[in-house]
Amino acid sequence: MCFHIRTMLHVTDDHWLVGARRIESPNAGPRPDPDDISLVVVHGISLPPGEFGTGCVEALFSNTLAIDAHPAFADLDGVRVSAHLLISRRGRLTQFVAFDRRAWHAGESSYRGRQGCNDFSVGIELEGTDSMPYTKTQYVRLAAVVGALLARYPRLSVSSLVGHAEIAPDRKTDPGPSFDWRRLVLGLSTCEGQAPRAPRLRALDLRGASPSRSPAEGS
Ligand SMILES: [Zn+2]
Repeated sequence: MCFHIRTMLHVTDDHWLVGARRIESPNAGPRPDPDDISLVVVHGISLPPGEFGTGCVEALFSNTLAIDAHPAFADLDGVRVSAHLLISRRGRLTQFVAFDRRAWHAGESSYRGRQGCNDFSVGIELEGTDSMPYTKTQYVRLAAVVGALLARYPRLSVSSLVGHAEIAPDRKTDPGPSFDWRRLVLGLSTCEGQAPRAPRLRALDLRGASPSRSPAEGS
């Protein structure tokens, strides 16, 4: 099963994922160094919070969200954000920004003393909340996506997977305690057909995570 997905998922020469729906977001720009893709940031998002399959996340990333459609959207007026990928509850993949470009997903952030994680990271949004378990299909898809990224970008490794909360602990809690990092790492090892490599679990520890979060992702 994983082999089948991995053969379907690969990154093209122009940095798009084959098999993913494409909705290009204007909320992106060039990376300072296009070859420096060395971190994967996992996020959780739903709009309105706790509602799935609404199309509002895609609208937010496309600057077409109707702000007056829901009270929870009031804080999103004028917000310009994106991510490289969204994985829906059913595992549907949507790509918004080519991987060699800088998506606006992490906002003010720091990883191992390096500021501005958008410069050198890939941002992957899982449709969900901090407190509701992510779906089995999402874990399978995410492992397949990360496998494709590992195969394409040599500076990435299993130890360069973090949650948004890890790189912006004072502002963000996603993907939250509901995300099972060990399940992702095991999925990666299964897909790669090799023994699990030791993950950097310190980096996978979501410090201060709580069920509440802002729906805005920051840029
Ligand atoms: Zn986030």
